[in-house]
Amino acid sequence: MKVILASKNAHKLEEISRITEKFGIELVLQSQLGVDIEVEETGTTFEENSLLKAEAVMKATGLPALADDSGLAVEALNGEPGVYSARYGFDDTLDDRGRLQLLLKNTEQVPDGQRQAKFVCVITFAHPEGQIIQARGEIHGQLLREARGVNGFGYDPIFYYPPFEKTMAELSPEQKNQVSHRAVALHAFYEKMKEAGYADK
Ligand code: IMP
Repeated sequence: MKVILASKNAHKLEEISRITEKFGIELVLQSQLGVDIEVEETGTTFEENSLLKAEAVMKATGLPALADDSGLAVEALNGEPGVYSARYGFDDTLDDRGRLQLLLKNTEQVPDGQRQAKFVCVITFAHPEGQIIQARGEIHGQLLREARGVNGFGYDPIFYYPPFEKTMAELSPEQKNQVSHRAVALHAFYEKMKEAGYADK
């Protein structure tokens, strides 16, 4: 089955394809089909935003579509930056590093022992016949007070993952891909696709 990935990001395509090819899904980037829609992420949950993206691309192409939405939720900030992770601070001059620094500044007063955080990823599959399949993955860790490590992206350098005693940015891409929120979500997604009869393995 050909499925359109609601993304322009080739890195996402590669990471998600590694799982979806197991059940005979041929994943194609929306940009490879010349679909150039920018979906406004107006939802307040990862579920809503990933559904918005999957449905928009499914409707634009008439083909089954897959989308993900992800972010970092800090417990002491009531789950912020959450669905606003990529836009944290709502300041166009900030890059990934700037948003990370802003988060460190906004959590300066949060004591050690109360710095729990989680990465969340929700994958949504939308079929033109109306079927929706969603799966969520989470990884739990601690927010550090300074950046460590050079791998990964986004908030990886300040997210400490206790089982490895390292930040996500200190893990190799292979290690991160085994334990990440995206890997957990994809695994759960695989099980749900099997249950729904979309996979033969
Ligand atoms: P999305 O592409 O709309 O899902 O945006 C997700 C945002 O959440 C990214 O821009 C990052 O700031 C953050 N994020 C999501 N996954 C990760 C991760 O694996 N490491 C670090 N930051 C992440």
